[in-house]
Amino acid sequence: MSAYPETMLAAVYRDGDLEVKRMPRPKPGRGEALLKIEAAALCATDIKIWQKGHRNINEGTEAILGHEVVGRVVQTGEGIDENLLGMRVVVPPNVGCGFCPACLRGWDSYCPAYKAYGVGLNGGLAEYMLLTSASISRGGLVEIPEHIPTKIAALAEPVSCCYRGLKDCELKAGETVLIAGTGPMGILAIMTARVMGAAKIIAADPVEGRREISKAFRADHVLDPARDSFKEELFALTGGWGIDVVMVTAPFSGAQLQGIDAAAIGGRINLFAGLAAGDTLNNFPSNLVHYRGLKVTGTTGTTPREMRLVVSLMAGNRLDQLRDAVTAVFPLMEAKKAFEEAKQGSGLKILLVPDGGAAV
Ligand SMILES: [Zn+2]
Ligand SMILES: [Zn+2]
Repeated sequence: MSAYPETMLAAVYRDGDLEVKRMPRPKPGRGEALLKIEAAALCATDIKIWQKGHRNINEGTEAILGHEVVGRVVQTGEGIDENLLGMRVVVPPNVGCGFCPACLRGWDSYCPAYKAYGVGLNGGLAEYMLLTSASISRGGLVEIPEHIPTKIAALAEPVSCCYRGLKDCELKAGETVLIAGTGPMGILAIMTARVMGAAKIIAADPVEGRREISKAFRADHVLDPARDSFKEELFALTGGWGIDVVMVTAPFSGAQLQGIDAAAIGGRINLFAGLAAGDTLNNFPSNLVHYRGLKVTGTTGTTPREMRLVVSLMAGNRLDQLRDAVTAVFPLMEAKKAFEEAKQGSGLKILLVPDGGAAV
């Protein structure tokens, strides 16, 4: 055990502030394991917590954020299979109670009592992260092959959230997809939809720079949803039929309404983004849903199974362009700079790497 240092570096959040400092390295107890972090990607959730706090993180308490991680099991507690030692893994962040109806469906991210790495449980913006026994027994170690580059591996969690949303929409090979909102998640959704068989992907975003980025990530068409002619242009691109699967990644009720309005007969719409406080979809177009036979769904988070499938796609080189979605890599020491850059929102995914990122 003495092979491991007694302390570790961590980016510690407390009351709206972020400080990189040394703290005791966690030691795995019974049923637990220790993960050496290879990289952690920043998510909008991390930035939101940094700026506004979170109900699961009490005032005055220190917390390590970061839930999009790849790492290696370097130490196991009593009762853990030693074969796990040395395994490279990605980790589904939400850990449910294990016995409520949501957990019995494998939907840990919907468990009313869930705990999550980076949101209450200490997360991956550190040199090491403690894997809880609940997390391990809920399928929380998803093995990831060595040949998958760090930049791609670190995105297994957010990509599997996109995968889940599109799967929930029963996307079939050959269908058309609209991604409404092309921030980082929208860009990941474009790549995910393509690998899941979308024949035509249309990306919509009012920001020109983002439309340009969507093109670089091989959206087949890009549209400005702020134009009066948006719906006309959209339907023209689909022979007047409309869109089979719409994923709304923009956190605005207006985008949700446009998304539902864009759907073809039998279309499925995924409300992927939550709305900000105070924003709500008034005048829900129920007659569109009724007369076009639409299905409006919502998903949040992912499951171990979906992460496993996404890792298989990565292993089969089906998601290689993900590498380009990582627009900056910072050493852990510069966590604050990374958060500032993520807040600006000019890039896509940002990685924090404990070793300084030499190999990334
Ligand atoms: Zn995330
Ligand atoms: Zn539960």
